[in-house]
Parts: sequence; C-alpha cells; structure tokens
Amino acid sequence: MKEVVVLSGKGGTGKTSIVASLASLAKSKVMVDCDVDAADLYLLLKPVAQENHEFWSGQKAVITQDRCTECGLCRELCRFEAINDRFVVDPVSCEGCGFCYNICPVDAITMSESLSGHWFVSQTRYGPLVHARLGIAQENSGKLVALVRQEAKQIAEVQGLSYIISDGPPGIGCPVISSISGVDLVLIVTEPTLSGMHDLERVIGVCHHFAVPVIVGINKYDINEDNSHQIEHYCHSQKIEIAARIPFDNVVTEALVQGLPVVEYSQNTVAHEIARLWRAVAEYLS
Ligand code: SF4
Ligand code: SF4
Repeated sequence: MKEVVVLSGKGGTGKTSIVASLASLAKSKVMVDCDVDAADLYLLLKPVAQENHEFWSGQKAVITQDRCTECGLCRELCRFEAINDRFVVDPVSCEGCGFCYNICPVDAITMSESLSGHWFVSQTRYGPLVHARLGIAQENSGKLVALVRQEAKQIAEVQGLSYIISDGPPGIGCPVISSISGVDLVLIVTEPTLSGMHDLERVIGVCHHFAVPVIVGINKYDINEDNSHQIEHYCHSQKIEIAARIPFDNVVTEALVQGLPVVEYSQNTVAHEIARLWRAVAEYLS
C-alpha cells in the first residue's frame, strides 16, 4: 500500500476539508487523523467507533502515602510546584522529571505511566478511520501519531487496501516529523497569504530534511494571484509540482455546513480541481 500525508503548516488553509474530499474520491483506503491534539476530520467523516483504546504514555510521580514521612523535601525541591501540602502529586503540573523520585529518603515515590489519551478505530461510509484524542495538557503527541499510523498500516495490510491517507498535524514539530517519516508522499495544502507562504517553505524544509517527496496544492489561489505566482516560482525552483489551483468559493463553507465533502456537494471548479489533485497524488504514488 502507499501512504500520503496532507500537511499545511498553519491551520485555516482548508486542509481537512480537502482531505475529506480525498476520502470520498479515493477507493480502497484507510484514513488517519494525525492531528491528535485537535482532531476534526471525524466531524466530516462521521465515524462510528468500533474500537476504543487507552493511550498510556509519559511518566508521572506518585507518592505512596503509607511510606511518606512528610519530610517535605520533594515539595520543596519540585521546580514545577506539582506536590501539594498533603503530599499528593498533581498529574497535570508534574513534568515527569523524576527528581523527587531520586531524592525521597524513604523511597515513597514511584514513577508510572499516565493515561494520556485515547485512540479509536472507526467505520465511515468512506472506509475505516483511525483517529485519536490526546488528553488536556498531555504530551507525547508524536508517539500517538506513530501509533495511529501503525494501526492504519495493519488495517490496510489485513484488508488489502491500496492507500493510507492521513490528515497531518499543524506546525513542523515532533508530531509532524512523526507523521511524515517513511511516507511515500507529502501533499502540502497552502494558501497565498504571507503566513501561508512562510509555512509552506518551513514544511518543505522539513520534508527535504527527511527526504520525503512533496507535491503542492494551492487553495483559494485567486484571493491573491501575485502571491500564488510567487508560490509557483518558489515550488518550481525546488522542483516541486503544483498539482492543483483551487479557487475560493463559498460552496466549500456551504458543504461544511451540510457536513459533506465539497466534491459530494457540488460539481463546480473547486470539486474539479480537488479531483485533479487526487489524480496527481494517485499518479505519483503509482
Ligand atoms: S521526600 Fe518522600 S518522605 Fe519526604 S515528603 Fe516527599 S514523598 Fe514524603
Ligand atoms: S517528577 Fe518532577 S515534576 Fe513531577 S512531582 Fe516529581 S519533581 Fe515534580
């Protein structure tokens, strides 16, 4: 099977809306929502959860009250003020540094993994979807991204599916790196704004660093055609194909309100360009 991840750097480029349309256009695929901090692909795909798993990760300190002599050393030295006056650790404030564990004179402190979130395997009318939700103030989203990708790969293998299509996380940090390692293609959805152009260059830089091939789709290209030309020139200089130029159209918002991928809501230019984008992705992957 072939794996493509869709990135945008910043939010608000219409990436998830385009991914939902790819879900509708592509046959024989499993979908993955790698934006585990703020998953929203499921809003459009309307999944029915079939499996719900806990995600345990990260170390938190736990004080065994029976052993604690209340000497106060850990509370005094914890830089994150995570231990209260009853010698109970606040798991949200605890950064898991393990300092208290090492200095407790009576070994009353243990470090244990904490419940950091959940991940799900769901069924949608477009096929299976693997998605996750990281708990509030929880870290290790890169690890959770790797986990949902691994699950999607297993589903694709077992069901003999041709594609894994991932809605990638924002930014260029650990979750993005986790989402692109070893994929066959990154599709970057950008828009012709200054921040969009800046983020495009940063995401391309990360993809080049990890030697992952890239193609680009410009969304709302006609809101600033000068900037769109600059994006085209930049991508040309980087030998990156512009696979689609999707115009701005209120029909995208109307489709969102109806809870439908735009390619199912309308057959206008937007839908045609997204279909062209999918053909370019499929051609590249073949
Ligand atoms: S250092 Fe150990 S014994 Fe002292 S207050 Fe903390 S947990 Fe209790
Ligand atoms: S592990 Fe670190 S942050 Fe957590 S309570 Fe102990 S000293 Fe504080």
